[in-house]
Amino acid sequence: MPVPRHLGGLLGSTDAAFTAAHALRDGQKYDLGALQIDETVELVVVGAGLSGLAAAHFYRRSHPAARILLLENHDEFGGHARRCEQHVDGRLLLGYGGSESIQSPGFMWSAGALSLLGELGVDLKRFESCFDRTLYPGLGLSRAVLFTREAFGVDKLVTGDPTPMVADDIPKGKLNARNAAAFIADFPLPEASRTQLLGLYTEARDVLPGKSAAQKQALLASISYRTFLTQHWGLDDAAANTFQKRSHDFFAIGIDAVPALDAAATGYPGFVGLGLPVEANAEAELEEPHIYHFPDGNASLARLLVRQLIPSVAPGDTMEDVVTARFDYTRLDAAGEQTRLRLKSTVVALNASAGGKVDVGYVHGGVLRRVQARAVVAAGYNSMLPYMMSGITDQKREAWRACVRAPLVYAKVAVRNWEPWVKLGVHEVTNPMGFFSRIKLDYPVSIGGYRCARSPHEPIGLHLVHVPTPSRPDLDQRAAWRLGRELLLGATYQHFEDKIFDELTRILGPGGFDAARDIAAISIYRWGHGYAYGANSLYDKARKPADAVVGRQRVGNVAIASSDAGWSAYAQAAIDEAARAVQELGGRVGHRR
Ligand SMILES: Cc1cc2nc3c(=O)[nH]c(=O)nc-3n(C[C@H](O)[C@H](O)[C@H](O)COP(=O)(O)OP(=O)(O)OC[C@H]3O[C@@H](n4cnc5c(N)ncnc54)[C@H](O)[C@@H]3O)c2cc1C
Repeated sequence: MPVPRHLGGLLGSTDAAFTAAHALRDGQKYDLGALQIDETVELVVVGAGLSGLAAAHFYRRSHPAARILLLENHDEFGGHARRCEQHVDGRLLLGYGGSESIQSPGFMWSAGALSLLGELGVDLKRFESCFDRTLYPGLGLSRAVLFTREAFGVDKLVTGDPTPMVADDIPKGKLNARNAAAFIADFPLPEASRTQLLGLYTEARDVLPGKSAAQKQALLASISYRTFLTQHWGLDDAAANTFQKRSHDFFAIGIDAVPALDAAATGYPGFVGLGLPVEANAEAELEEPHIYHFPDGNASLARLLVRQLIPSVAPGDTMEDVVTARFDYTRLDAAGEQTRLRLKSTVVALNASAGGKVDVGYVHGGVLRRVQARAVVAAGYNSMLPYMMSGITDQKREAWRACVRAPLVYAKVAVRNWEPWVKLGVHEVTNPMGFFSRIKLDYPVSIGGYRCARSPHEPIGLHLVHVPTPSRPDLDQRAAWRLGRELLLGATYQHFEDKIFDELTRILGPGGFDAARDIAAISIYRWGHGYAYGANSLYDKARKPADAVVGRQRVGNVAIASSDAGWSAYAQAAIDEAARAVQELGGRVGHRR
């Protein structure tokens, strides 16, 4: 067991950020009646994640003189779009504590969301030169799978992984992948398991014979990928385990809860021989490069939005200068500003008051405060709304309760150099039965005044993903996520640090890595309420069930936004829902390119 070193701490959704919200859930009453009104504004926005910030932006555009107040429970704006700053040997390392990239903007982003990027000065073409797609391939590095001794009997790293990824940052021909036969031959598995896997990777077998394409699709939507592997491809458990947590990062669940049809759409092997129709959009999403990434992830979008809403907060006006711009947090909530953003402020009550106004109660510094607004955009966690609003129909209440979010953790580990990675020939590791399911070198992006690590002798940030949700086929996805959240909130910082030391040593030890010497800093971004829920065909009858429609309908002058309202865990959904909510309040949200 490593010696506790306390190289960092728990960030993201901290206990302090949750206190008032969890008290509300547990029955605490907040009575606004006896309180005087502290402030009157035109719009209150609940939550300063990408959705809340976009809502404020859209509202400001159509009501230039409006006074807007954003209330955010965390000590930082941006929600999941969270910047990580680490300093190693005098060098600044930027990283993303949550929302990572603008994914597949060519195919998945609406005209409205793209238009917002344009207004913020984000030129997507710039990423083609800022993101160095050939740095790691040029050093001969590949992806690898880690076999851990608890599940597979031995710790072993197998490089040259040829498995395709949804929206890859590495160009197709430069994966440094081995052919499936050579790759699988190195797996520490019985020969029978290896033979099964080789068939899965290389044979165009129709494992669902006698069915039409539509029947196959219906079946694949109703079974998990794990069931597809074990029952239709005949893989044994050891072979299926090589995929178990490969889906964690993208879906926040294991392959036993990912519909086989979704696995097909995101590049998992085993579907070539089924003769399924090619879905143009899924194919395009799969193919579009994963390069639309700022060094601090989508936090740069949040920072661009805040700088536009409150210009005195930071200098500059380009997508380049925002990356290193120093933000003056004392300006976020400055008297006299038309838009104010108040951190550490949890909204606990939204009450309709006389004249159609909305009374907003929020807890700041342990004290309940009251502000009155002409209108509200609720862009926080929609599952909190039943506790915050009274006189709501049961149907609506249920619709909001259905917005369970996924628990997940991004651990950011700053290391003094990445020579062991180069020695071992690897830039990214899938850990299908371990603690951190994905472990990788940071994306190589240099932009504005920020330069990413280019030489293996330089410090670099490592990115590690942990999903605490256990494999529980007896629970539906939301129940499993709730259980995962409980486990996550019970875990200490030290637990994560120990796991980081342990797994990095198992992977990189043979390359000369010494955790005690080489790790310089650790930041654990804990997201109890992470990805918004999207329909899962194993548990939901429709892609957009009635709950999704009912949940986003406005209640008087309270319009409902956030990615929860879109039932979609993407930045563009957060933006689209903000635009819709503002339109419902009478805002004009035209597209500007
Ligand atoms: C680890 C991780 C990685 C991701 N990666 C990507 C990615 O690469 N690409 C992508 O498109 N999407 C990604 N996402 C999805 C991400 O959720 C969206 O990109 C987007 O950031 C969601 O914005 P949002 O405003 O809807 O929600 P959030 O980011 O959750 O923001 C809502 C904010 O409202 C606050 N809030 C909630 N209730 C209240 C209240 N009552 N009072 C005050 N404040 C409140 C919350 O604390 C939060 O700060 C990722 C998410 C996570 C967790």
